[in-house]
Amino acid sequence: MSKCSQCDAAISFMSVLNTVNPFKVKCSNCKEAIHIDKKSGGIAVFIILAIIVPLLIIFYGSSGYWLKVMLPVVAAAEVGYFLLIKKGIVKTKQ
Ligand SMILES: [Zn+2]
Repeated sequence: MSKCSQCDAAISFMSVLNTVNPFKVKCSNCKEAIHIDKKSGGIAVFIILAIIVPLLIIFYGSSGYWLKVMLPVVAAAEVGYFLLIKKGIVKTKQ
């Protein structure tokens, strides 16, 4: 499991959710910046975008787009990215 190098706290979902930069999340415990490995993180971001971008384009303009498509797809992407970090598939720099 990926942990903060500073305080050893596990990376929380809120840390991933709150970041604007997928390669740098802030530890929810000590606020230390946790750097994500550019290689494994980059591959994960690329794959996630390759899945969600076509979905967002296909359903673009459908009724209730933001609530029924955009929100769940982006939330699923965030959860997916978090799980990849948590399982150590996407690595953090120690
Ligand atoms: Zn920490």
